Amino acid sequence: MHPFTLERPLDLAAALAFRAQAGRTDAPVEYIAGGTDMVQLLQEDVRRPDRLVSLAGLLDDRIDFGPQGLRLGAAATMANVAASTTVIEQFPVISEALLASASPQVRNQATMGGNLLQRTRCPYFRDVGYAACNKRAPGSGCAAIGGENRWNAVLGTSDNCIAANASDLAVALVALDASVDVRGPGGQRTVRLADFHRLPGDTPNIETVLEPGEVIAAITIPASPMARRSHYLKVRDRASFEFALVSAAVALDMNGPRIREARIALGGVGTKPWRVPQVEAALAGANLDPATLRRAAALATDGAQGRGGNDFKIELMQRAIVRGVETAGARA
Ligand SMILES: Cc1cc2nc3c(=O)[nH]c(=O)nc-3n(C[C@H](O)[C@H](O)[C@H](O)COP(=O)(O)OP(=O)(O)OC[C@H]3O[C@@H](n4cnc5c(N)ncnc54)[C@H](O)[C@@H]3O)c2cc1C
Ligand code: SF4
Repeated sequence: MHPFTLERPLDLAAALAFRAQAGRTDAPVEYIAGGTDMVQLLQEDVRRPDRLVSLAGLLDDRIDFGPQGLRLGAAATMANVAASTTVIEQFPVISEALLASASPQVRNQATMGGNLLQRTRCPYFRDVGYAACNKRAPGSGCAAIGGENRWNAVLGTSDNCIAANASDLAVALVALDASVDVRGPGGQRTVRLADFHRLPGDTPNIETVLEPGEVIAAITIPASPMARRSHYLKVRDRASFEFALVSAAVALDMNGPRIREARIALGGVGTKPWRVPQVEAALAGANLDPATLRRAAALATDGAQGRGGNDFKIELMQRAIVRGVETAGARA
């Protein structure tokens, strides 16, 4: 492991100043929150910061619910958000996505901010024994294209990177039109989560729209009756402690047996959490009958490109949408 200094700033302003000294990519200064992803990356020599800036105690961990919606402080743990009665009752898709993530030990430690910024599980990114990884070492190539790519993305890919975004939480939040409150040396701003993660394009090493030094301070989710009738379906190789092969976050507004409005996002298939507006449009006004759902779900494959080992995801994501909509639709 590369040796580093751990900085424990007394306030957020000092933390922002430390981190802002570094550039945008391959920064010698990095933030650490719960550490559940960062420490693995340090141990595996994937990240080699000279300084780690701890965010512990600098960001709030509140879970607030009001007429405007839900606000989650960036330091709230996955476990506390998943167990919140408000979240379970008003935003079940969030609680379900979190409970389907990681393990109880990890969820006790991991934070909202860290979850949205966790790095991909592409095996070549996490193993420095492989030289070719444009995300880890820009310009080195992509070992997953033509290699073992069962876990990689089929939507939003480029010839430089096909890594899937790994966060289940982000998929649920994108379906609910969440935003992140960002703070940085230049002040604060709000970014729609759907616009927060970047497509890989020619620069897969730049994963979000965060500027150097900026932190996620909170997540806001607008109040909506649809959020109450929501569901997270996760398909994975084993029932716990495993990332998604494919997932679907679904929120529905029903008028009797008919869908008035649907919001759907997919995980495991996109290089970022993947909203499918074309499927949502096809479901507006539709009944919950299997043939209609299947026809709408087929639209999600627009632009999908398998690379051999992950071809199966193109069929699986359609099935996940159908099952996810049926389950959400059956909710009272
Ligand atoms: C065994 C295992 C299984 C897992 N399974 C799943 C799973 O099934 N689904 C899933 O979604 N996740 C899974 N995870 C990932 C887990 O959810 C993340 O590791 C965790 O959410 C990261 O949160 P953290 O607070 O520990 O972040 P850290 O590890 O501290 O940080 C992660 C990244 O975020 C940055 N960061 C952290 N907080 C902020 C902030 N507020 N502002 C700006 N930058 C910040 C850090 O600089 C770092 O780059 C798994 C992890 C493990 C170890
Ligand atoms: S898919 Fe992306 S993360 Fe994986 S090896 Fe290729 S460049 Fe690296």
